[in-house]
Amino acid sequence: MKRYPFAPLAEAMGETEAQACRTLGVSGSTEKQYRTEGLSERTADRLATRAGWNPVNIWPDWGTELLEKAGPWVDDRPVCPECDEHFTRGRRDQVYCSARCRCRRASRESRRRRWAEDPEYRERTLTAARRYRDEVGAEGRRRMRRAQYRANGHAERERARERYRANAEEEKAKRRARYWAQKEAS
Ligand SMILES: [Zn+2]
Repeated sequence: MKRYPFAPLAEAMGETEAQACRTLGVSGSTEKQYRTEGLSERTADRLATRAGWNPVNIWPDWGTELLEKAGPWVDDRPVCPECDEHFTRGRRDQVYCSARCRCRRASRESRRRRWAEDPEYRERTLTAARRYRDEVGAEGRRRMRRAQYRANGHAERERARERYRANAEEEKAKRRARYWAQKEAS
């Protein structure tokens, strides 16, 4: 187990080790143990706090042992299927992180449905696109494509794909969580 020397605490208190022990109410075999063997992470925290200090100000590496024991932090909150970000549910059946994501998904889906079912809408959209293409130059077209690309969520999907490649296990767990969140909501 990691040990933290007593001396830096006494020094921070502006006292000798013996004086510091008296101030902190430590004596006898405990005092001897602290001064010769050092302090455990918990004791270091307790004594530093009692002296009015934050332990990291006395021992800059304080806290690393607890962190190591706790293991890596895993965000097990649900993932928004629209923006792929974790969020905290306000309601049990909440699927999207925000109204913005819910609306974006809904309007994209309704556009897609309309595109599939309404030939007139399709024709209108294509005509407008053709007109736009004829009116703007190559740079304008590129800008338009980029905007459409973003609006369609390709960029988000591409980012999600990259994240998946970078960390397949974690992403699989996320997807499982999302699957259950959707199931729960439907
Ligand atoms: Zn979202």
